[in-house]
Amino acid sequence: MTSTTSRTVTVIPGDGIGPECVNAAIDIVDAVGVNIEWEERHAGERIFEAGVASGVPEETIESINRTRVVLKGPLGTPVGYGEKSANVTLRKLFETYGNIRPVRELPGVQTRYSGSGIDLVVVRENVEDLYAGIEHMQTPGVAQCLKLISRKGCDKIVRLAFEFARSEGRRSVACATKSNIMKLTEGELKRSFERIAPEYPEIEAWHVIVDNCAHQLVKKPEQFDVIVTTNMNGDILSDLTSALVGGLGFAPSANLGSDVAIFEAVHGSAPKYAGRDVINPSAVVLSAVMMLKYLGEFEAAETVEHAVLSTLQQGTLTGDVVGYDRGVSTSEYTKAIIANLGARVEGYTVRRAQPILIPPALRDPVTVRPGSREIVGTDIFVETGLYPEQLGPVLERLAEGSALRLKMISNRGTKVYPDGNRNIDVVDQYRCRFIRRDDEPLALAEVRDLIGRVEAELAWCHIELLQHFDGQPSFTKAQGED
Ligand code: NAP
Repeated sequence: MTSTTSRTVTVIPGDGIGPECVNAAIDIVDAVGVNIEWEERHAGERIFEAGVASGVPEETIESINRTRVVLKGPLGTPVGYGEKSANVTLRKLFETYGNIRPVRELPGVQTRYSGSGIDLVVVRENVEDLYAGIEHMQTPGVAQCLKLISRKGCDKIVRLAFEFARSEGRRSVACATKSNIMKLTEGELKRSFERIAPEYPEIEAWHVIVDNCAHQLVKKPEQFDVIVTTNMNGDILSDLTSALVGGLGFAPSANLGSDVAIFEAVHGSAPKYAGRDVINPSAVVLSAVMMLKYLGEFEAAETVEHAVLSTLQQGTLTGDVVGYDRGVSTSEYTKAIIANLGARVEGYTVRRAQPILIPPALRDPVTVRPGSREIVGTDIFVETGLYPEQLGPVLERLAEGSALRLKMISNRGTKVYPDGNRNIDVVDQYRCRFIRRDDEPLALAEVRDLIGRVEAELAWCHIELLQHFDGQPSFTKAQGED
């Protein structure tokens, strides 16, 4: 099945178990006869150690800019300190906004769900949400992470989910959000989903609250086909789904952008197994299968997938499945897959995919243009050791004679003034909500005047404008606010 046209793919071996997994995938893809030139580049731990703060050096970026396709091993990230994740940097640098994470029941891999026919895909938004990583300490004791969700980002991921479902002939797409609580951010995805779903009438579209989605995935996973969700939800749900079919060793993924794709396992660098020739390379091998489909090599992709499933069906299993005292080595497992190229797995179907239609990038930064907008107030966050009943009168006095009045104060989202809940164990960061005294639109100068008045006596640490777009508030109420 040797293909004639050569294609260059950037390959990043990665850290820990990465090189073992990636070498297995390369050996299998080479053996199936697809004509790929692998251009090796690096990122991750050794690059951090060499002093490149991003973990992604210029020659790697240059290679990806040219090849537009990457097969990568996991990259180690310092946890809870130090530099940002090089994985996240790569996804963001190339705007690979969609992370596609399929799982399916595997022959020979016994789990408590064996026989239920799990075959689902989590489509995770990959560049927005809390993973934008915009964090600040607002006071020495109060941290904040901005959850940024754009309509443009939501529209793109929803379309990608439906296009992916269509390319694989899948029957339904569920949208999993926490929009009952985060009505503006998570709600944005739900609204995009409701707007775009009718363009795909052959696919059933339904919404599920994300916590119930986790519950349903454990209880009755076979009810799901494609799940589209925001970044953090998708991160958690897709680790959960990988455990349903045998663990992270079997969970592949594709990071898709409008014209760059990065294929990698869901798992990390599992450093304790590095260099021991014991780990399960299936996740990276199945990521390479996704890559072959992306490159239009459907026959080769199907051949490799059949070979992996046949190998498992024959009982050739790595230590993560049968215990490290009984499992075959990574290299033996890889050889068995190569020996099975051309075999057909019995009793299991392999999906015949069509080319996926990736929505083109909309270069216009402005995708929503309201007919009207007006400033109606401001939230000034202040750092103070005062109690709410002390702070309220101070703010009311400071706002006297200005265009705004104090409406309420909240502490971590719950109203504490006036008539606040006295059970709240307050911290030293308050959101002070000021609104216009009459129905006239406010000028920015009037907001600035108020900030100046507050600043004269209190330390502000964050400010938000309160606006109406097309007459609708651009902000939510505090818990307990009328
Ligand atoms: P991890 O590397 O995924 O490993 C967690 C556990 O999963 C392992 O200890 C092992 O379980 C199992 N496992 C993962 N891959 C396996 C494989 N191929 N074969 C067999 N078992 C496998 O997660 P982590 O320990 O939390 O993270 C380690 C490093 O990887 C961190 O620096 C993290 O930031 C990074 N990371 C990178 C990526 C990425 O590059 N995309 C993703 C996630 C994490 P048992 O211990 O039960 O045997």
